[in-house]
Amino acid sequence: HAKADGRRQMRFFDPAMTRALAHRRDMESELRMALRRDELSVYFQPIVDLSTGRVRCFEALVRWFHPERGEITPDEFIPIAEECGAIVTLGNWLTGHAARVAANWPDDVQLAVNLSPMQIKAPGAALGILSALKDAQLPPERLELEVTENLFLEDSPAIELFIEELSAASVRFALDDFGTGYSSLGYINQWPFSKIKVDRSFVSGPQAGRKSDAIIRAVSQMGKSLGIEIVAEGLETIDQVRAVRDAGCTLGQGFHFSRAVPDYQAALLLAEERGTAPGDWGDRLAG
Ligand code: C2E
Ligand code: MG
Ligand code: MG
Ligand code: MG
Repeated sequence: HAKADGRRQMRFFDPAMTRALAHRRDMESELRMALRRDELSVYFQPIVDLSTGRVRCFEALVRWFHPERGEITPDEFIPIAEECGAIVTLGNWLTGHAARVAANWPDDVQLAVNLSPMQIKAPGAALGILSALKDAQLPPERLELEVTENLFLEDSPAIELFIEELSAASVRFALDDFGTGYSSLGYINQWPFSKIKVDRSFVSGPQAGRKSDAIIRAVSQMGKSLGIEIVAEGLETIDQVRAVRDAGCTLGQGFHFSRAVPDYQAALLLAEERGTAPGDWGDRLAG
């Protein structure tokens, strides 16, 4: 008995756990400060048409440059922001900012923004996005919201309403990280996705190989018959680009093309591709 009790006590006072909890609390308050002190930035990673090589979309990805700790990755702080609710403030700020940046791109370039379930369930979420688009003068059809399958684990009327309202307003939806969760075909059948993003573990992870090529091929075939575009994430080499293109993916994203870059570099990328000065898009000037 004494031994078992001792073990239980040890677990209760586990220093690693105490440290982890303290770290979490620190991160939480620092994240709230970061939002006030402008330590967050939005970077943009191109999503490229695999047949023409042209940029079709940029995905907005949040970056946190901490004055002492340096760069903190989203995988580290997004889960904490989700738990403490700061994700709502963070997301509102990011959507507004990214939409204003995207409004300066050519009309055929889309903006993709990641949304957590909590952001979607927040009161007034759909209205907030529509008014951010209006303020930025970005047409709704140029915005694509990336959601993951965990959104559908709970069937909440708020989520259904959100998707219906924004789809009716022509905002697009993409299913992110496909293949990592339940990968239920039911979701694809029920919701109006214009894109499915196949998770990078199928492309460049240790699991990638002949089997995952076959899966990408099957998903691409399904996408083709349903009119849904398939994006391959995590393309790091030209061989991977060729493999997913041969498997039927129409779009790709990854370090082979570009990492996520600041807004001025995204504009330069577009300018270079189109042979114009940044911001000097003929179609916009005419319109
Ligand atoms: P995600 O939405 O799947 O975004 C793609 C992630 O893969 C990004 O990581 C991107 O930098 C990384 N990536 C892109 N190409 C490659 C590649 O070729 N190789 C490798 N190894 N990685 C690549 P990042 O920016 O660290 O973001 C991680 C995740 O954090 C995102 O995954 C997304 O789930 C979340 N996240 C990022 N920004 C936001 C945001 O503003 N709001 C929300 N709710 N979540 C965000
Ligand atoms: Mg994403
Ligand atoms: Mg993804
Ligand atoms: Mg991911």
